[in-house]
This record gives sequence, structure tokens and C-alpha cells, in this order.
Amino acid sequence: MAFPTKSKYVIIGAGIHGLSTAWHLAAGLKASGKGDGGDVLIIDKGGIAAGASGIACGVVRNNYFQPAMRELMAHSAGVWASDPEAFAYHPVGYMQISPEIMHEDVATIHDQQKAIGYESDFIEGEADCTKYMQGLFSDWRAQGITSVLHEKNGGYANNTKAMYGLAAKAEAEGVRILTGVTVTGLRRANGSGAVEAVETDRGAIECDEVVIGAGPWVRTFWEMLDLPDTVSIKGADGATHDNIPMWLYWCLEEGTLGVDPDLLKTNDGKMPPVIHVDTDAPLYSDVDGSLITDKLWGIYYKPDFNFGGIQGGAAPYKVERPAKEVEVDPYGAESPEFIVDDNFAHMWCSALAFCQERFSGQIGKWKKEASGGIGCFTPDSFPVFDRFCENAYFIADSNHGFKMIGVGQLVAEELLGKQSKLLEPFRFSRYAEGKLHPVSHSPFPWS
Ligand SMILES: Cc1cc2nc3c(=O)[nH]c(=O)nc-3n(C[C@H](O)[C@H](O)[C@H](O)COP(=O)(O)OP(=O)(O)OC[C@H]3O[C@@H](n4cnc5c(N)ncnc54)[C@H](O)[C@@H]3O)c2cc1C
Repeated sequence: MAFPTKSKYVIIGAGIHGLSTAWHLAAGLKASGKGDGGDVLIIDKGGIAAGASGIACGVVRNNYFQPAMRELMAHSAGVWASDPEAFAYHPVGYMQISPEIMHEDVATIHDQQKAIGYESDFIEGEADCTKYMQGLFSDWRAQGITSVLHEKNGGYANNTKAMYGLAAKAEAEGVRILTGVTVTGLRRANGSGAVEAVETDRGAIECDEVVIGAGPWVRTFWEMLDLPDTVSIKGADGATHDNIPMWLYWCLEEGTLGVDPDLLKTNDGKMPPVIHVDTDAPLYSDVDGSLITDKLWGIYYKPDFNFGGIQGGAAPYKVERPAKEVEVDPYGAESPEFIVDDNFAHMWCSALAFCQERFSGQIGKWKKEASGGIGCFTPDSFPVFDRFCENAYFIADSNHGFKMIGVGQLVAEELLGKQSKLLEPFRFSRYAEGKLHPVSHSPFPWS
């Protein structure tokens, strides 16, 4: 097929957001009689799932301290549940298991989940938490836990399969996905400043609207449009803080213990919910008993046949240099810098053994393969979903986004002229206006 020189909508990125937006946009165009999938083109320099969506752990959860995030996630959980088979989605539920310092925050989450009809149980007090957890796993032994939030919805999806499921839905609506094509620039119209063409290494494609779903590469597109490298943020104190970098990178550390995934079945032989544990109890090595940390720490894990074992991660670390100096490519397992090392394996496997006796002595089964990757975060670590330069829609999810399969639906509605109440709290103007999201006590930048 000839290389296109024009498309009404050009979507950059064949990850969760680009694919979901394209699918819903094509369906919305058809339903409204304004066009069809033939008006929508996705471009990716790699292939489907070549970015963060293809290496994500795949966890889908709702436990956010921020009301706006919770409502958005409840919407996305509905989209995941709409076709579990196509999205390789396992609706096993999710557990947030926390220490006293997080108790009040998580209690609030539970109350607000009830208010929006998102089903969850909340257990409080050390003894009751242990009893509840041992009711699921007889060998549960994590210390320092005073609350358990058990979300009945959510779970996890197989990363790449989910993206192919989305791509099939988009293509069934007539969307064209062009892979192996790199966007090199965004040509602006004289006068208005709107994007009139997407320039690629194969030629320019004129467009009416461009959607940027570029995950960790978002900064490149921000620069292409000369958007500011720093922002001013009005804080809770009413003072304005200037020169805050717009982007920064965090590295997510994840890996797999190569045991039979069935090892983590519950007492009654079922697949368990995704487990997330945060605690301030000291963590000691499962290898030699040495102290690993006596600060607040956290891990998450799940049995995963796709990864071939018990897969999960721990709190990410900040990449301590300006975003401009961070090499995003080669990405994921090919990165020479942003993959996990033996220290991570030691910490994570010891943490598994801290939680459940069945993991003690299993570190030898750690899969020595490159895993982990970076995500591009906004100044407050929450997404920016907004239009810039009139017709450039950024879906900058601040690395929250595999679970956000429904955002594309809302973006598509906005592209078709219907403003979304769920996306409203994620506009760029919130920084200048001081309309910030509340901050929790979690050790993770995305809770
Ligand atoms: C290790 C890891 C684990 C994670 N686990 C989870 C999780 O369990 N749950 C969760 O909700 N989130 C998770 N996340 C976050 C989540 O993966 C991302 O937020 C989400 O996948 C971003 O999706 P996206 O569509 O914006 O970008 P991506 O999936 O990164 O897609 C962007 C695409 O843009 C393409 N591209 C880039 N530059 C160009 C260019 N110049 N020209 C053409 N194409 C280009 C890339 O090739 C890529 O395919 C994780 C992230 C990481 C790194």
C-alpha cells in the first residue's frame, strides 16, 4: 500500500493509548456519521507494543488516594472487563497491604471506592489483617501490616497480547497501523501554530489533528512543539514555585522468580489477587540475614504464565539527571542502563520471603534476564491529558498508564467534540492554577 500523504487524524504511538484512542475514534466517527476508521492512522517507529506497554507488569488496580485517579481507573476497569479474552485480562482482584503510616490514606480510598460503587473489602488492625491474609495464604507472615484493602475488580493483563487485542479492534474499525516509521518533526502552520503535517523518515503526512501517545518518548514531542521545559506551580501554600522541570524519568525495577506460577495459588487452589505490600518493618536478606532496609519499602507480585513465574517489582528510583540527558533508546530489555541488577533480585526475593514462607530459599530460581524500564513523569507525577497548539493532543500518562485502557475512549470523545469530566482534572493548567491532586504516604510515586 502506498505511503499516505494525508490523514485526518494521525496518532503517534502503538501503545495502550494510541491503540485505544484509534479504536474508539474510528468507532465514534462511524457512529456519528462524521467519518470512519479510514480517517485514522497510527504511526510507530517500532511495532505494536514496542514501548512501555509491551514491557509493563500489566497490573490493573484502582487504589489511588486521588479521587480523580480513582474515578478514571474505575472507568478503565470497565473497559478491561468488557472483553477479557481479547485483552488477555485476568480479573483476579488486587490487594493493597499497608503499614500504619498509610492506614488513614487507605481507609479514605476504601470509603471513596464505596461511594463510586467500586467493590472492595477493608480489614483493619494487625491481628485481623494477619488472619485475613492467612485465610488466603496459610504461610502469610509479613510484619508491620495494619490494613488490607482487597479490591474485587482489577487484576492484570498480559502486556503484549493485550496490545494485539486492541490493535485488532482498531483494525477491525478500518484503522491503518504503520510500523517502522519514525516521526522526525511536527510541521506547524504559518500564523496559527497548529500542526499541519507530521514529518516522518518516509515523508510528511498532512493532518487535521495529531495525537501523541508516545509514553517515555513524550519529551521529544514536547520539544518538537517548543513547549516549555519548566513550569511554574502554585502550591498548596498559595506560593508559586518556578522553574520546576516539566519531565523527569524514573526507572521501574521488575523481574520474575522462575518458579511454577501455581506456587502462589490460594489455600483453596485459586489464582490469587495481585499482591502489593508496603511496610516499615525492617527487611532482612533471605540469603544471609543481613539488614537490607529499615525504611518504608514496598513490593508487588503475581503469578504470571506469560512471564513464566512470579512476576513483580518494587518502588522505582528517580533517574537523577535532567530529562534531556536521559537516553530513552534503546528501550526496555535492550537498554544498557535501565535494567535490574543482582541487588534488586536480592531485595525483591528477600521481600517475597518476608511476606510468604513458600518463597524462602528460592532466590536461585530468579530469572537472570534483562527486565525493567523507564517512564517519563510529569512535575506532580500525575497525567497530563490536554490539547496544545490547537490540534496536538498529548496523552502523557506519567507512567500510570497500562491500566488506563479507557483513557483512549475519553480522548476520542474529546476529539469528536465532547469534553470529558473524567479528564478535566488532568489539564496542564492545573499547575499554574494550583489545582493539584492530593499526595499520599505511599513510597510509590504513582499512588
Ligand atoms: C517496567 C514497567 C512496568 C510497568 N507496569 C505497569 C503496570 O503494571 N500497570 C500500569 O498501569 N502501568 C505500568 N507501567 C506504565 C505503563 O506501561 C505506561 O504508562 C504505558 O504503557 C504508556 O503507554 P503509551 O501508549 O503512552 O506509550 P508506549 O507504550 O511507550 O508507546 C509509545 C510508542 O511510541 C513509539 N514512538 C516513540 N517515539 C516515536 C517516534 N519518534 N516516531 C514514531 N513512534 C514513536 C514507540 O515505539 C512506542 O511503541 C509500567 C511501565 C514500565 C516501564
